[in-house]
Amino acid sequence: MEGNQAFVEGDYAKDIDYYKELLKGQNPHAMLIGCCDSRVVPEITCHAKPGEIFVHRNIGNIVPPGDWNIGTFLEYGIRHLKVNTLVVCGHEECGAMKALSSGESGDDVLIPGWLSHAHTALELVEKRGKKPSDPEEARKWQSELEIENVKLQLKNLRTYPVVREAEDAGRLQVIGLYYRMSTAKLEVIDPGKPLKTG
Ligand SMILES: [Zn+2]
Repeated sequence: MEGNQAFVEGDYAKDIDYYKELLKGQNPHAMLIGCCDSRVVPEITCHAKPGEIFVHRNIGNIVPPGDWNIGTFLEYGIRHLKVNTLVVCGHEECGAMKALSSGESGDDVLIPGWLSHAHTALELVEKRGKKPSDPEEARKWQSELEIENVKLQLKNLRTYPVVREAEDAGRLQVIGLYYRMSTAKLEVIDPGKPLKTG
């Protein structure tokens, strides 16, 4: 409540015309699937205002095929809001990817099933080599897993007809990004096919 008060009196009051305009509706220019991680906040890392990014966040920025939650997000964003840029964004130091690579699920009931949708990325990285014991090398290996997971989830996205159709028609660019927490910079993993103009 204190934070909200500070927002109302600060950013909101300063930019009141912009916020009043948002009452008429949203017109975001990008859609983003990111991780729930509290340290990775797309609007902050992209310096975006409310109304600019249509966001879905979950554990590990995972796109399970046939998921109703993500499917609804995609259908609404692509068909109704007509957003032409769709991003999957992974990040450095992802706890979900650490849990996946450790293979330990303890008493968890739901997490292992969710993470299973990233397992192909783990298999791919493990084929190149097991996780090193040296901490610095292990971090690099972990980062490779996080990046392979983004690539895998881009593939999973294309199992949704609404994504495939829009991409094939050149109405949607599907992009893979990686947020490197240690530098705060976004890296392009896959730039996607450019939009068709006209
Ligand atoms: Zn994460």
